[in-house]
Amino acid sequence: MNTQSLAGKHAVVTGAGRGIGAAIAAALAQAGARLTLMGRNRAQLEAQAGELATEVHVETCDVTDPENVQRAFGGAACALGDVSILVNNAGQAESQPFARTDLGLWERMLAVNLTGTFLCTQAALPGMLGAGWGRIVNIASTAGLKGYPYVSAYCAAKHGVIGLTRSLALELARKNITVNAVCPGYTQTDLLEASLAHIAQRTGKSAAQARAELTRANPQGRLVEPQEVAQAVLWLCLPESAAINGQAIAVAGGEV
Ligand code: NDP
Repeated sequence: MNTQSLAGKHAVVTGAGRGIGAAIAAALAQAGARLTLMGRNRAQLEAQAGELATEVHVETCDVTDPENVQRAFGGAACALGDVSILVNNAGQAESQPFARTDLGLWERMLAVNLTGTFLCTQAALPGMLGAGWGRIVNIASTAGLKGYPYVSAYCAAKHGVIGLTRSLALELARKNITVNAVCPGYTQTDLLEASLAHIAQRTGKSAAQARAELTRANPQGRLVEPQEVAQAVLWLCLPESAAINGQAIAVAGGEV
C-alpha cells in the first residue's frame, strides 16, 4: 500500500478516544488522512490526538443527540474541510436476559449503536455528495450477523446497522461513495472487559473463566486485536477498494 494513499482526505472517526476507534484513527492517520476524533470525553480524545502524526481536530459529541452531532460535524468541516471518510464506530454493549431487557436498555442500545450511525451519516453525507467521493464504514459486530443470548437489544441494533449499510450502499452506488460494515468478533478493549466483569458478576464464574468462554467462540482460540479491525477499515477506505460496496465483513477468526 502507498503510505500516503489517503492524503488529502478528511476522516471522522466516532468513539475515537480508545479501543477499536483509536486503532482505526491511527491506521487512517498513517495512510495520510487528516482526522477528526469524536467522542464524549475530550481529555481522552486530546490524548489520542497527541499520538497521531497528522493534522488532527477534536470534537466532543454524543452521537445519540441530533444537535450535538450537527454541531460537531459543522465544527469538523470548518476545521478540516468536508468529510470524505466516516467511520461510525461509537457503540456500547449492555447485556441482560430478554425478560430483564427493559425499554430503557432497549432504547439505549438502539440510540448509540443504530441512531448514532444514522445521525452521523446524515451529517457527513452532503459533503461527500458535493465532492463526488466518499467512504462510510460502520463498525457493526458479529452480533449483526448472528444471534447471541443475553444481548438481544445490542444484536437487534447491530443487525439494524447492517441493514442500513446494505440499503444506503445501493442508494449511493452511482455516486462514487461506498458503504460497508466491519463486524468484529470479541475484541480486546474496555467494552470486552466490562462484558467479562458483567458475566462474572451474573454467573459467579471467575473473570478468567468468562474470558476463556468468549475466546472459545473464535475458532482461532483468541481475542481479536483492535489493530486487526482497523486494517480492515483502512482497506475499505482506500481508493482501490471502490468496488467493495454493501458488504458486512467479519473480522472474527472464522466465527461467522
Ligand atoms: P470501547 O468501550 O473501548 O469504546 C467505545 C467508544 O465509543 C469510546 O470511545 C466511547 O467514547 C464511544 N462512545 C460510547 N458511547 C458514545 C456516545 N453516546 N457518543 C459518542 N461516543 C460514544 O469499545 P470498543 O472499542 O470495543 O467498541 C467500538 C465499536 O466496536 C462499538 O461499536 C462496538 O459495538 C463494536 N464492537 C466491539 C467488539 C468488542 O468485542 N470489543 C465486538 C464487536 C463490535 P466516550 O465514552 O468517551 O464517549
